Amino acid sequence: MWSKNIETFIGCESGYREARIVLFGAPFDGTTSYRPGTRFASKAVRSESYGLETYSPYQDRDLCEYKIFDGGDLELPFGNTCRVLEQIEEFTEKILADEKLPLMIGGEHLVTLGAVRAAVKRFPDLHVLHLDAHTDLRDEYLEEKLSHATVMRRIWELTGDSKIHQFGIRSGERYEFAFAEEHTVLHKFNLNGIEEAVKRLEGKPVYLSLDLDVLDPSVFPGTGTPEAGGVTFRELLAGLLKMKGLHIAGCDVNELSPVYDQSGVSTAVACKIVRELLLILGGI
Ligand code: MN
Ligand code: MN
Repeated sequence: MWSKNIETFIGCESGYREARIVLFGAPFDGTTSYRPGTRFASKAVRSESYGLETYSPYQDRDLCEYKIFDGGDLELPFGNTCRVLEQIEEFTEKILADEKLPLMIGGEHLVTLGAVRAAVKRFPDLHVLHLDAHTDLRDEYLEEKLSHATVMRRIWELTGDSKIHQFGIRSGERYEFAFAEEHTVLHKFNLNGIEEAVKRLEGKPVYLSLDLDVLDPSVFPGTGTPEAGGVTFRELLAGLLKMKGLHIAGCDVNELSPVYDQSGVSTAVACKIVRELLLILGGI
């Protein structure tokens, strides 16, 4: 009772200096086209994480065994998308320069662009693992180049061909799928193929971007653009656990919109995913 009331994600109580992993929130939903609300995700995840154990029976690892710093949320200037992305980039750059691993909680999916800009500067050969219901490969959306619906297209401009590996995709325009055939490695509908991708990416720097709407809306209704036909929690977890051997340089979890799930289950699911990701990063 007699210390300051600072709420972190459960088990993430290290200071920045000694930390190996840095968790932070990027609560931005300024380009959300359908249902906004992801700006509330990181705070909800922190608060609900106390419903979890720090120990994972899936990995036989405990958050308390690792040095994880929770830096809270970035104070982002809503209304200035470019500046928002710059702030995320600057923060991620500092974490990477200090040889730590960033795990960012969105926010809408566009926040990934800021983090990848920093990661690709440090690791020019960066590959991106992208789990999502949506291709996110539009060139522009509602005449905007910077949007949650264009984020992977902007990232492709940074990484080049065959560096973005997409899984679980079940929605997009026909031309986006045609674009993917030429320029990315796209796997429709499920997470099959992750094992193969992991083998190919061994030793290479990888950024993992997890749009939680890859999950089926029955598991995860709390999101801005729910898309039927997604994967189960167990399938997603199995896919993530296959990434254990990879050189993950950074990652993010995005598109939780807690207000669309009155039961709170979506937030609980996101918390569990964040715990498992932190434990995967802990072993790197
Ligand atoms: Mn997305
Ligand atoms: Mn999506």
